[in-house]
Amino acid sequence: MGGLVIRALLIDMDGVLFHGDQVLPGAAAFLRRVGGVPHCFVTNNPIRSPGQIAEHFDRLSLPVPALDRIVTSAEATLTWLVKQKPGFRFFAIGASTLHETLALQGNADAQNADFVVVGEGAGIDYASISTAINLILKRGAQLICTNPDNTVDASCDGQHCVLPGGGALVAPIAIATGVQPVFVGKPNPLLYQMAIKRLGASISDCVMVGDRPDTDIAGAQALGMHTALVRTGRFASGDRLPAGIMPTWDCTSLTELMAQWTATSALRDVDH
Ligand SMILES: [Mg+2]
Repeated sequence: MGGLVIRALLIDMDGVLFHGDQVLPGAAAFLRRVGGVPHCFVTNNPIRSPGQIAEHFDRLSLPVPALDRIVTSAEATLTWLVKQKPGFRFFAIGASTLHETLALQGNADAQNADFVVVGEGAGIDYASISTAINLILKRGAQLICTNPDNTVDASCDGQHCVLPGGGALVAPIAIATGVQPVFVGKPNPLLYQMAIKRLGASISDCVMVGDRPDTDIAGAQALGMHTALVRTGRFASGDRLPAGIMPTWDCTSLTELMAQWTATSALRDVDH
C-alpha cells in the first residue's frame, strides 16, 4: 500500500492488544508508536464501561486512553436509541453497565418500554425473557441487541473460557417472537461511525485494526475504510479468510503490522 498515509485509527482491544489479563506481544510498542495519530478504541463488549477499560489498560501497564477515546457497544446503542426516540423507555437485559448507560438518556420501564435491549453478562432468566416477549408481542416494543457475537472469549479463574455473546443471549427472544433484532455493534456501521466522528476524521483516512474478519474487518470494509487484520485472536495464522473479506494488511502480529507500516511510511510521525 505505497502512498497511503494513515491519519486516524480505530483499534479493537480483545485479541489485538490483550487477551484478558495477558498483554499481547508488541501491544505496548504499538500504542507508543501510534500515540501521535488520532485514535479511538472500539469494542463490541457492552459489559465494561470506558472507565473500567481505562483501569484495565492501567493495570496492564499500557498507555491509558482518554475516556472519550473509548467507544463501547453499550454507548453506541444509547446513541442509536436517542436518535430513534429522545426520552426513550427501555427494558434492558444484561450487565449493570448496560442498564446504567441506557439510563443516562432513557427511562427504565418494564411495562411500557419502546425498546427491549439485550446485552452481554448475567441478568437473563425466565422472567426477563417472558417480560421481553410480551413487550414485543403485545406492546410493539422493538428488539435491540448491543452486539451480534455468538460467543465471547474470557478468562474464568485464570483459565480461558467461552461465554455466551449478545447474539446467543438475544436468540431465545428472537425465536419466541419471530422478530429479528437490530444489532448495533460491529460489523454494523454505527459503532465505527461514532468513533470516526469523535476523531473528526473521515472514513478514507482511517484504518480499522482488529482480530476478527467477520466483524472488525467486514464492517470497516463495507464502510470503505482501510483495514488491518492481526491474527492474534480467534482467527489464527493458517485460517482462510471468509469470502469477500480483503484486509488491506493481513499480519500475524502488531509487531509485523508496525514493520509493514514503517516500511511504506504509512505511519508518519506527527512532528514531520
Ligand atoms: Mg477482538
